[in-house]
Amino acid sequence: MRAVVVGSGPNGLAGALELARAGLDVDVYEAEETLGGGVRSLELTLPGFVHDVCSAIHPLGAHSPFFRSLDLDVEWVHPDAQAAHPFDDGTAVLLERDLDATAEALGEDGGAYRALVAPLVEHWPLVEPVLIGPHPPSAGALARVARALGPRPALHALAASRTLAERTFATDRARAFFAGHSAHSMLPLERRPSAGFGLSLLVLGHVFGWSFPRGGAQRLTEALVARLVEHGVRVHVSSPVDELPDADVVLADVAPRELLRLGHGRFPERYERALRRYRHGPGAFKLDWALSEPIPWSAPEVGRAGTVHLGGTLDEISASEWAAWTGRKGPAPFVLLAQHTRFDPSRAPAGKHTAWAYCHVPNGSREDYTDAIEAQVERFAPGFRETILARSAWGPAEIEGHNRNLVGGDINCGAMDLGQLFTRPVRSRVPYRTPLEGVYLCSAATPPGGGVHGMCGMSAARAALEDLSKRA
Ligand SMILES: Cc1cc2nc3c(=O)[nH]c(=O)nc-3n(C[C@H](O)[C@H](O)[C@H](O)COP(=O)(O)OP(=O)(O)OC[C@H]3O[C@@H](n4cnc5c(N)ncnc54)[C@H](O)[C@@H]3O)c2cc1C
Repeated sequence: MRAVVVGSGPNGLAGALELARAGLDVDVYEAEETLGGGVRSLELTLPGFVHDVCSAIHPLGAHSPFFRSLDLDVEWVHPDAQAAHPFDDGTAVLLERDLDATAEALGEDGGAYRALVAPLVEHWPLVEPVLIGPHPPSAGALARVARALGPRPALHALAASRTLAERTFATDRARAFFAGHSAHSMLPLERRPSAGFGLSLLVLGHVFGWSFPRGGAQRLTEALVARLVEHGVRVHVSSPVDELPDADVVLADVAPRELLRLGHGRFPERYERALRRYRHGPGAFKLDWALSEPIPWSAPEVGRAGTVHLGGTLDEISASEWAAWTGRKGPAPFVLLAQHTRFDPSRAPAGKHTAWAYCHVPNGSREDYTDAIEAQVERFAPGFRETILARSAWGPAEIEGHNRNLVGGDINCGAMDLGQLFTRPVRSRVPYRTPLEGVYLCSAATPPGGGVHGMCGMSAARAALEDLSKRA
């Protein structure tokens, strides 16, 4: 049996491996010169400075049910603290691996934080199959989690971030801390289920930590490719696919509109219409810096965190996310920043540093956000600009130009609101299947959506194998 995988992002590679492990003869075709899609590294600024082109922090890179099963040859770096949220008064709140330490730092909201997060952390083995397990989750998995935890966590996860933050926390600091995590959803904080993203990231921080590969994200891709080669999979770079290949199984790690292009009118009209209705979310504007020294944070403890959320209060973050969602240039953007070299000196020449940051912008925006992002860093780290040796700036056009899945700079390959979280790209129990026999979609445009976990690829491959066994 022959399989072709179109695209080599983490989902394409995961799908290819799952098919090869089942004995299929697999080829992977990648349009770009390098493998990995959203998991690549390049010297974007100066020689010797390694920058992650897309994904930089990988809470599920070692721990998704699929990646965990592989025992990959990747050295995972664990920063001292997972995330930091600095404030204008020169203080910060940190997401520590330890739940009690995190709660303590939230002062009078510590008890509320514990009540919100601890049940999910304690029952993680039950929660994981529902949140990030193979899709669709079994009725048994859903029932077990409901029995152990009752309806509250599900209601919290499906809520809007502002609603949950304001109902749960009394202080502006705790509300802002929660908002910063929720904004990873790329949804307005007033839109459901933005709270679920915040909660998930906090829980992952306590259960696994937010780690990243030593030497660059590319190392994860290299380890996956090494495993593919062991299984006899052939990988082809600089090989854009322009029509659906002829094979027993085709897994397409592509955006829905690209799948339609590859179909050249072969998909039934109803399916075409549904894919055309698929919505992309805001884009990203990304900066990478080569730095002469670590970022001089006003609150020194921010230096202990791998990820930093720069946006001030819940209201400020809300305004930034609304602007990106509704297509306007907003006030100061909410900035997500990673400072790998504090914990992984191999990514820069001796004594030098890198930083990676992006903000959410209207899909396809052509505005230059360089000054706005750097002003946000400078706000919490006066003197930051003097440490910059070189920078690389990529707006939505450059991001999409380097990976056609990132339509308009949308890093999740589709908005992840309630309408498209579980039913992406179409309303179907197994949305990986397409109406064409043997053709499956396996990109982040399928459940469980964006992020580096390989679970879309794994679930799509399993659907294909199930169908193959019926056809035999
Ligand atoms: C700026 C940015 C920051 C991010 N940060 C994080 C982060 O910190 N943590 C995290 O977990 N996630 C992050 N993500 C998201 C993560 O990178 C993606 O969700 C993930 O890579 C999706 O994997 P995928 O396999 O579905 O697709 P992709 O990784 O996008 O790969 C798709 C691949 O398919 C190829 N392709 C498409 N069409 C064709 C064709 N016709 N022929 C041949 N090849 C084709 C593309 O070239 C690409 O290589 C980030 C993304 C971006 C852009």
